[in-house]
Amino acid sequence: MDTTDLATPRRALAVGAHPDDIEFGCGGTLAKWAAAGCDIHHLVCTDGSRGTWDAAEDPAQLVVTREQEQIAAAAALGGTSPVTFLRWPDGELEAGLRQRWQICAAIRTIRPDVVVGHDPWKRYRLHPDHRNAGFLVTDGIVAARDPLFFPEQAIAPHRPSTLLLFEADEPDHVEDVSTSVDTKIAALLEHRSQLRTTMHVSATDTSREEELAAFATRIRERLASTGATSGFDAGEAFKRMDNL
Ligand SMILES: [Zn+2]
Repeated sequence: MDTTDLATPRRALAVGAHPDDIEFGCGGTLAKWAAAGCDIHHLVCTDGSRGTWDAAEDPAQLVVTREQEQIAAAAALGGTSPVTFLRWPDGELEAGLRQRWQICAAIRTIRPDVVVGHDPWKRYRLHPDHRNAGFLVTDGIVAARDPLFFPEQAIAPHRPSTLLLFEADEPDHVEDVSTSVDTKIAALLEHRSQLRTTMHVSATDTSREEELAAFATRIRERLASTGATSGFDAGEAFKRMDNL
């Protein structure tokens, strides 16, 4: 990889489309930074109301459950600040001006050194929420840094120093997460209502432990192969953008 390991930021803001995207995309990096004293912030764009294979599930209850799980996952990573929920309908997130306004306000309020989000340019991506959440981050950064964008917010502009994009189409930066693999897995497992759809843990009997172990093994193997590109035991890869 071209670069590895940013200096630990004072504050970092991670933006995900759904509950669990941040943990999958950059949970190890956030946990490592939090352990080193970084103030990590989560912002989740949608309400997670459609992420189920069970048509009988109550979407309103699912929203409440997903938010509770996301709060627990952020805490598991070492986050001590409240999670920001924008609550756009799952599957219908648009990269529009109202959403950009919200991301801009969050960046100006939280004032992160580093922003982390989905790569909107990842090719052959199916889910529109991931693509649009990515564009909201890039567009929100442009708005947040210049005072004549959304001046009615009456919050001082803020320019982050670095943007890291996960699920990157052309990754060029790796963070060493050797010390935070277990924390990332623990945070992912807080998303209990998504165990079946995203973690392939469906059993309720004794084989559940085996399925959970298999999930943890898959995560470890993925982090190990990413880390190997940079000589780390475990790594998370990003597209890095500076000079924002
Ligand atoms: Zn997602």
